[in-house]
Amino acid sequence: MLTKENSKSFKKKIQKAEATKPNSASFIECLRYRTSPITDVIFTADSTTTFLSSYLSYTKNKRYQSPDYNKLLAIVAAKHVSHVQATVVCAKSNGIQLRTRSGGHDFEGLSYRSSIPFVILDMHNLRSIAVDVSSKKAWVQAGATLGELYTKINEASQTLAFPAGVCPTVGAGGHISGGGYGNLMRKYGITVDHVVDAQLVDVNGKLLRRATMGEDLFWAIRGGGGASFGVILSWKINLVEVPKILTVFRVNKTLEQGGTDVLYKWQLVSTKFPDDLFMRAWPQVVNVRNKRRRENHRGCILCSVLGSSR
Ligand SMILES: Cc1cc2nc3c(=O)[nH]c(=O)nc-3n(C[C@H](O)[C@H](O)[C@H](O)COP(=O)(O)OP(=O)(O)OC[C@H]3O[C@@H](n4cnc5c(N)ncnc54)[C@H](O)[C@@H]3O)c2cc1C
Repeated sequence: MLTKENSKSFKKKIQKAEATKPNSASFIECLRYRTSPITDVIFTADSTTTFLSSYLSYTKNKRYQSPDYNKLLAIVAAKHVSHVQATVVCAKSNGIQLRTRSGGHDFEGLSYRSSIPFVILDMHNLRSIAVDVSSKKAWVQAGATLGELYTKINEASQTLAFPAGVCPTVGAGGHISGGGYGNLMRKYGITVDHVVDAQLVDVNGKLLRRATMGEDLFWAIRGGGGASFGVILSWKINLVEVPKILTVFRVNKTLEQGGTDVLYKWQLVSTKFPDDLFMRAWPQVVNVRNKRRRENHRGCILCSVLGSSR
């Protein structure tokens, strides 16, 4: 529990961390000592061009296009589990905060920003996906995007799918550890309902699976935010059955055309339809330059049906 006392001591710790910037050279030396080869996946502010492009490649919130050079000490774009383990251990032993980034879609940029000195552990190189149609299961690494996962599943089978988010560039690492919801939600529930195993590197650099991490931790990483508990390397997921043909359509109504009414009625009816029909409401500004004008606002209903339109 956060009491006045420990909140004061927490603030002091932050101030101390800000005042005594950790030594990034000793962090990098530690990485090299613990695993090799690792040099080509470490980006520091000395190598300005690659550092910046590495920072920007998964910085999805355009507000944070400039890294804070006073706080961000290095980016480690891990290519191997040993890189992840070394980064966790070396950040801890050097008193540096670790931010783990997979798809970089965190709304507040928490995977690549911090108010105290930190390093980014970038997972985008760890993005392999293995689909096993016969068992209706797949392993997906944290750095893979949802779009890549959907494509791989579709290549393997046209009647299997995975219930997760609608945005194809969201990363499996952050999305699944946060819960996840999308077009198949009404029929199949949320994303974490379909996670059956995971690989996680804990705070001591130990590689764990469901059986070794225990059910409490396995429960926590499915919705509690992975970064609070370790670094997710990969998820084992259950695939669900879908018909070969799906139908998608959208209805757009400006305010003049009764857009407000459509959005209002959507609330009343969308839960009453069969589970095969998913309707998503999206209030939209059509022309941001003229967003005060009523005709530039509309209600959009995006629908998907598990089956043919006939
Ligand atoms: C355009 C857009 C569309 C979206 N659409 C949907 C949607 O349809 N459905 C839905 O449910 N959500 C949606 N989201 C929310 C999205 O699922 C979350 O923001 C999610 O956390 C992003 O994951 P990421 O890996 O892309 O982001 P990141 O910024 O990389 O990570 C997000 C958080 O997870 C942590 N994290 C990332 N990788 C790991 C890892 N390997 N191990 C441990 N912790 C990790 C990060 O430290 C950070 O705290 C959307 C977000 C955006 C920006």
